[in-house]
Formats: sequence, C-alpha cells, structure tokens
Amino acid sequence: MAGRLSRRRTRRPPEPEDERWMREALKQARRAAAEGEVPVGAVLVVEGKVVGRGRNRRETRQDPLAHAEIEALRQASRKLGTWRVAGTMYSTLEPCPMCAGALLQARVERLVYAARDPKAGAIRSVVRLLKRGRFNHTVAVRAGVLAEEAGEMLAAFFKGLRVRGARGREG
Ligand SMILES: [Zn+2]
Repeated sequence: MAGRLSRRRTRRPPEPEDERWMREALKQARRAAAEGEVPVGAVLVVEGKVVGRGRNRRETRQDPLAHAEIEALRQASRKLGTWRVAGTMYSTLEPCPMCAGALLQARVERLVYAARDPKAGAIRSVVRLLKRGRFNHTVAVRAGVLAEEAGEMLAAFFKGLRVRGARGREG
C-alpha cells in the first residue's frame, strides 16, 4: 500500500498548459500540410516559453532527419546555446525511434504527444524506447492531448493524397 501511494505521489499531474502548447504544435502541423508534407508539428517549451518550433519538412528538404521534433530541438539548442535543452517537447504525433532517441540525447524532461502512430511510434506503439529505467535519462510522457484534432488533420491529409492519386490515374 505504502509503495503504491509513493508511486502515485511521484507521478506528475497533468499540466494545465499542455493543451495551450499542443495548439502551438498543431499550428506547425498545419503549416506542414500547407506545404504538402505529412502534417506533424512540434514545439519545445522551457520555463514557460517556446524555445524551438519544428514541422515535418522531409519532402521539402529531401532529408530523412527533417522531422518536426528534430527541427524543434535544433532551433532550441541554437537559441539556448546548449545541447542539453531539457524542457517539455509537444509533438502532434507519437515520436519515431529517431526522435525518441533525440529526446534522450537532449535530456528533454517531458514529452507530451497527441495522436498515436501505430506504424512507427516508439513510445507506446511499436517499441517503448522511453520506458522508465531503460536508459540513464528518463523522459516523463503524457499521451493523447488533443489527439482527435491531430488525428483528423493526418486523416484529412492522407485522404487528400488518395483523392489526388485517384484523379492522377484517371487522367
Ligand atoms: Zn521522428
């Protein structure tokens, strides 16, 4: 009983600002969609301020590393002048293995994501890279914040691709 209580006490409560910051990440995702990219956005927040923004730009840059989270981390580390950016990462989609690894490298303290990615997610879906005790750094995770909005944006994007693809085949 005591053990269960102490575990409960150490778990972080949901933070009221999470939705606010996730909306910032969704703005980035919307920009990505407008550029013809799979709509994924991310923002990194340190001490109540956005220090890095990123959106998926894989097609635009033809860069396999140009994921939203990586771009946000790069911007944040330039701005803060340190690789150890810490803070909280807000991502509209469950991070892939590369981005989950980058969160560890950057010593990000907390990850909040919206939609899950059953095909490539490395937090809960395909693998659980950030499972407590697996690495020497722990990232606290909160999943499902504004998941519906993020999921709908992704679904609309892929539906648009299929419609355009079908039209292309007809013409
Ligand atoms: Zn990624």
